[in-house]
Amino acid sequence: MNTKETLADLVKIDSVSSRSNSEIVDYLERRCQALGFSTQRFAYHDELGVEKINLVGFAGADLSNIELALVGHTDTVPYDPNWSEALNLTERDGKLYGRGSCDTKGFIAAALSAVASIDLKTLTRPLALIFTADEEIGLRGAKHLAQLKPFRVRYSIVGEPTSLQPIRAGKGYSLAEVIVKGREAHSAYPALGASAVFRAARLINHLERIAAQLKSEQHDAFDPPFTTLNVGVIHGGSAKNVLAGECRFTLEWRPIPTQPSEHVLHLLNAAINEEQRADPDFICEVDASRADSGFETPVDSRLIKLLERATGRESGTVAFGTEGAQMRLLGSEPVVIGPGDIREAHRTGEFVPVQELEACTGTLQQAVRELCG
Ligand SMILES: [Zn+2]
Repeated sequence: MNTKETLADLVKIDSVSSRSNSEIVDYLERRCQALGFSTQRFAYHDELGVEKINLVGFAGADLSNIELALVGHTDTVPYDPNWSEALNLTERDGKLYGRGSCDTKGFIAAALSAVASIDLKTLTRPLALIFTADEEIGLRGAKHLAQLKPFRVRYSIVGEPTSLQPIRAGKGYSLAEVIVKGREAHSAYPALGASAVFRAARLINHLERIAAQLKSEQHDAFDPPFTTLNVGVIHGGSAKNVLAGECRFTLEWRPIPTQPSEHVLHLLNAAINEEQRADPDFICEVDASRADSGFETPVDSRLIKLLERATGRESGTVAFGTEGAQMRLLGSEPVVIGPGDIREAHRTGEFVPVQELEACTGTLQQAVRELCG
């Protein structure tokens, strides 16, 4: 079976994150076993009780110490039901269109083709294929695996659309909801209450200063080379003539990997304390829901050198979160690479260039041969 045919099979299986990924895992398990891999499932239930599965295929003797893992997530973002190609891979002008074609089923298809061309019995060090769940909704499958730590991994290649540039570092991702309380009152008599909107505005002013302050800690490998933060959504108040009783906003930040994710949280808490000193009635809750760390693999890592040589491209960094951090927790030096462009992912008309798909297969073959052969 060639890479395109495998990709067509994978795209045909609807694996939007909200659904169980058991159908695509069944398919991948059959394919892995046919290639001679032993397989193991690491399942869990999401908060709606839907079963989600991480599937691992192993080749080699010592399954607790994996030399190289090829990692792809099985879930996709939702698609527009009017997009007729979403589940029906379509080739046009050297491009393959379909949901997940570049994020990240293209990489999975390339990984299966790469290992199919290798006699697993000739490998001297253990190889694993790791297919995760729920990447698109907070890297949950990879986090589940990182928590279980069922094995250690030395090198990992995490599939994400990078147009085949090896990515050796990624920023983290953190998210909090900030809830500022006030006291409702008729707006004609402001002294009878306290506006949560005015209070939130003061706090957001602090955050803008914190954003500027964060620029002083630089990591030159990134663009932009510092931790960024964003207040993306704000809701507050009930009517134009009522002092707002509550105002909530989201605070999102993307820490450079050299900075702990809690750093921004500490700065936020210091700002809240300052507000409380000025206004003892200032009440505010912070609900921190995400603290995904970034990752960084040294420039002189064997895997980076190998992938730079194989692709002819210098390694780089990305400003978005990936499963690289979880693979780091499993002990590995991760590199993120895959066919297709991240700017084409997550939209109607997502595609992967055929040529990159084929080139990825060759690159992964080379990596398996050199590291596990
Ligand atoms: Zn992805």
